[in-house]
Amino acid sequence: MSDPHILVIDEGTTSTRAAAFTLDGRIAAEASKPLTQSYPKPGWVEHDAAEIWANTIACAEAVAAAVGVETIACAGITNQRETVVFWDSETGEPLAPAIVWQDRRTSDICAALKASGHEPETQAVTGLLLDPYFSATKIAWALEHLAEVRTAAGQGRLRVGTVDCYLRYRLSGGQVFKTDASNAARTLLMRLHDVTWDAGQCAVLGVPETLLPAIGDCAGTLGTAKIAGRRIPVTGAAGDQQAAAAGQGCFAPGSVKATYGTGAFLIANAGKTPPKSEHRLLSTMGWRLGGQATYALEGSIFVAGSAVQWLRDQLGLIGSAGETEALAASVPDSGGAMFVPAFAGLGAPYWQPEARGVIAGLSGGTGRAHIVRACLESMGNQTADVLTAMAADGVSPGVVKVDGGMVKNDWLCQDLADALGVEIERPEIIETTAMGAAMLAAVGAGLFGSLEDAEAAMRRVDRTFRPRTSGDEREDRRANWRRAVAQVQAGLA
Ligand code: ADP
Repeated sequence: MSDPHILVIDEGTTSTRAAAFTLDGRIAAEASKPLTQSYPKPGWVEHDAAEIWANTIACAEAVAAAVGVETIACAGITNQRETVVFWDSETGEPLAPAIVWQDRRTSDICAALKASGHEPETQAVTGLLLDPYFSATKIAWALEHLAEVRTAAGQGRLRVGTVDCYLRYRLSGGQVFKTDASNAARTLLMRLHDVTWDAGQCAVLGVPETLLPAIGDCAGTLGTAKIAGRRIPVTGAAGDQQAAAAGQGCFAPGSVKATYGTGAFLIANAGKTPPKSEHRLLSTMGWRLGGQATYALEGSIFVAGSAVQWLRDQLGLIGSAGETEALAASVPDSGGAMFVPAFAGLGAPYWQPEARGVIAGLSGGTGRAHIVRACLESMGNQTADVLTAMAADGVSPGVVKVDGGMVKNDWLCQDLADALGVEIERPEIIETTAMGAAMLAAVGAGLFGSLEDAEAAMRRVDRTFRPRTSGDEREDRRANWRRAVAQVQAGLA
């Protein structure tokens, strides 16, 4: 038989991708399709789950055709997290638009729950904070407001799940209704320490436990996927950020990765017991293998690459994301401009869903390149906020492993090193999310004995960016950023 491939399905926020990985970590074939973003009202973000499914199967079949479906040994699934899909158990068809993680329509529900004192308990049980980002309030909102969803629930036809759960259901022809621990941990409903649904959280948040899928491991025998007429074993599944942490080889407690895609997400491996953040970070699941959980501390930044898309699509300042690199380098600094891209509220460590963005410090001399540079600099500034909180929670990495679509930008990687005062390590394959799903699937299929073995065979470093700034320079930059964030917060008063 020809060399085996691992098929990865990576259903991201802005696109759906599939890739075939070799066991030495090369991508033998890949395919992608953009995903339509719907913004029906301010603060609302929706996806069409029928399009998600059609794109998924089209990408998977294109990749299977490219490498030969008979060479595919197993499949791994990774996905945009928290987003919820509502579908009909009889047809598999969506009953309503998927409510996307960035959607803020449940801000009021979260504010009311906070006001009635539920946040400490929520944090103690789930590791999360009360923010519309997470799945549960989106499910409760749909049960209350969408007639199709309510009716289907009454008739026992409603299936609700995160994107991994929906894809596993469809890929298995309706045989599997399961999620994995890393996705379940993002709902506000899972007890982090023992990986079961929490009856109290379900009651408080208004989500009947009977609607929820079973929770399983991130590797092993997870189901099958019918692709190009063959049933392929699904042996790996994890939310995109946890998969990226695995793909970056963050196996030692304290090792940190940062993924810069639509949003930016930092994850620190926290070992075998759930961490407790005292500084507004999330305590969450890394992955669970053979019933053994590995936990993580996470800082979620809601707007990263989407700010670059905004410069392109809304302002027309750039023709393509790649142009930002030369533009940022064309000026010595941002000319005093500070960009806080809080389009979807402020995430960690602020958690202010009502916040909105600002561009501060404008003068008559501020030009296109300065705004673009301020936009890229906001990545380092937002990351510094999260790393400061991580340090206060006891995690101070000397190296941050970066990945995601933005880090092909060398200028950005150097600026991250300069803003943070740590080494920035970029792997050869920046689709680390897919790499991690491939590693999980390979371990689940028994192709490697452990994630560490998979990493040794599959992951290689491309380049390390070293800081070129002094502590004083970094402190000045932090002070300017804090002033700009204060302007955003002043807008909330
Ligand atoms: P996701 O998985 O969240 O859909 P990706 O990891 O594919 O996102 O990253 C795409 C994001 O990266 C887009 O928002 C895009 O604006 C941004 N991006 C792509 N190339 C560059 C670049 N060279 N410089 C800066 N940003 C970039």
